[in-house]
Amino acid sequence: ESIKTSLENLIPGTQNPEPNLDHLTPEMLLCTRRSRLKKLGQQVMVGDRVEIVEPDWQGGRGAISAVLPRKSELDRPPIANTDQILLVFAMAEPTLDPHQLTRFLVKAESSHLPICLCFSKTDLVTTEVQAQWKHRIQQWGYQPRFISLHQQIGLTGLFDQLRDRITVVAGPSGVGKSSLINHLIPLAKLRVGEVSGKLARGRHTTRHIELFDLPAGGLLADTPGFNQPDLDCHPQDLADYFPEARHRLADASCQFSNCLHQDEPGCVVRGDWERYEIYLAMLQEAIAHHQACDRQG
Ligand code: GDP
Ligand code: ZN
Repeated sequence: ESIKTSLENLIPGTQNPEPNLDHLTPEMLLCTRRSRLKKLGQQVMVGDRVEIVEPDWQGGRGAISAVLPRKSELDRPPIANTDQILLVFAMAEPTLDPHQLTRFLVKAESSHLPICLCFSKTDLVTTEVQAQWKHRIQQWGYQPRFISLHQQIGLTGLFDQLRDRITVVAGPSGVGKSSLINHLIPLAKLRVGEVSGKLARGRHTTRHIELFDLPAGGLLADTPGFNQPDLDCHPQDLADYFPEARHRLADASCQFSNCLHQDEPGCVVRGDWERYEIYLAMLQEAIAHHQACDRQG
């Protein structure tokens, strides 16, 4: 059975659980899973570091004998060992919508991975507007980056942030993600074109996930475009995904341990922070979603 995902970071037959990364090879092998792994029900994910026995570099084939311990596991897209999420939103075109941005942030926060929030197309707004957003986003608890591909601004800092890490890129369509990825990885376009034959069907489905090599080191994965991520988190968890609430809860506790921070007495989260109204609206949605799930059993 062949693994149809593109696995990078293949480590040739070593029994060492702490692999020496200097031995990484840029070549790729089409690998099967050893029957022992299948018996164990051990799946292989994109981003996994694996042990390969008897790699046949000439023939481009190998067999995966072990999956090394994962440091993280992302659900959607299913990628192992992701280090961070790069969330891209445009300053304009499309209009920057705090509700939509918050939905993406909450979704990203629910992965418990570090979030790198990046605003693109700064060339479309004045420096005053950019400064206002910067201040606003800092109040939310994030340290945003600002870039313009057209004016080549902020790119070096972003590249440094991506170096030697596995990064998953997310954000609504139209914000310039593809442009950025094609700029970062000149070969990405070419490689997308290359798979248009046999694998073309998989290319546009969520099943096909590919990590692209960054020239300076590191791997990047694009996520399929969606403008409105589902809010499927537990109502009780939602506050954790707002840094403003999280910070308040780190310093003090609400009177009730199951407080949803709406109108309960002795709540330390309720207050005059900008996104509190957004929190309340999303909470209603999470409660409704949760009840619907409960009804379905
Ligand atoms: P995606 O849907 O997020 O992948 O966005 P695309 O990469 O397809 O870009 C959408 C549009 O934004 C394209 O017309 C790009 O030319 C444009 N765009 C990308 N980067 C910039 C930028 O830095 N400034 C401006 N003004 N437009 C940009
Ligand atoms: Zn509370």
